[in-house]
Amino acid sequence: MLEGLTALVTAGPTYEPIDPVRYLGNYSSGKQGIAIAIALRNAGAKVTLVHGPIDNVELEDITSIAVTTADEMLEYCNSLLPVDIAVCTAAVCDWKPQSIANSKLKKQLGQDKLTLELVLNPDILKIIATHPNNRPKYVVGFAAETDDLIPNAQEKLKRKQCDMILANAITQTSTPFGNDMNQVSLVTKDGVIAWPRMSKKEIAEKLVQEISKHLTH
Ligand code: C5P
Repeated sequence: MLEGLTALVTAGPTYEPIDPVRYLGNYSSGKQGIAIAIALRNAGAKVTLVHGPIDNVELEDITSIAVTTADEMLEYCNSLLPVDIAVCTAAVCDWKPQSIANSKLKKQLGQDKLTLELVLNPDILKIIATHPNNRPKYVVGFAAETDDLIPNAQEKLKRKQCDMILANAITQTSTPFGNDMNQVSLVTKDGVIAWPRMSKKEIAEKLVQEISKHLTH
């Protein structure tokens, strides 16, 4: 289906160091990104997976690149362009500490608050999707939201100039993080299709079928 095409997948969290022993991070397991990398490979694409700190990423016939921070993830992604397909599933930390302390931050006697100055991380998906000369032919992003899922995903589709956003509802009783099952809606400029709840593997396979429709006629 995708023979001869190249694909870049980002997955997992990023860790943003605070000091030599602490970081800002999140609960992303990387499972959806890994499933998509495998599905793209099975469809014949040459896949590179750039992933944050997650376990078990020895995947046959997939080049895996381990990174820690958003800046490193961006650097590797940029170095891999041009590619035909980019799928950004990574739960990149939106913010990073403005500066990294050289020594472990110590509690101060009588001080019950610590203020960390955070700055925005680069938006890897947006940088890839708006790349002036190396934009992939098809760019997919994710949107995990607790509120106003579809309007937020549609706004993200436009602002980040992706071809497709998979929108993930996060509710009190259901979170995609670490789960093997997920429910997503596929958001493109043509409309919204809610897929039923299914495994991340099935989502990956359906997504690859959708991507191939746009790349293989
Ligand atoms: O803006 P938000 O984090 O909700 O967007 C989610 C989408 O953007 C995901 O596809 C994620 O991989 C990507 N993203 C990124 N770099 C960031 C933030 C998000 O690639 N700094």
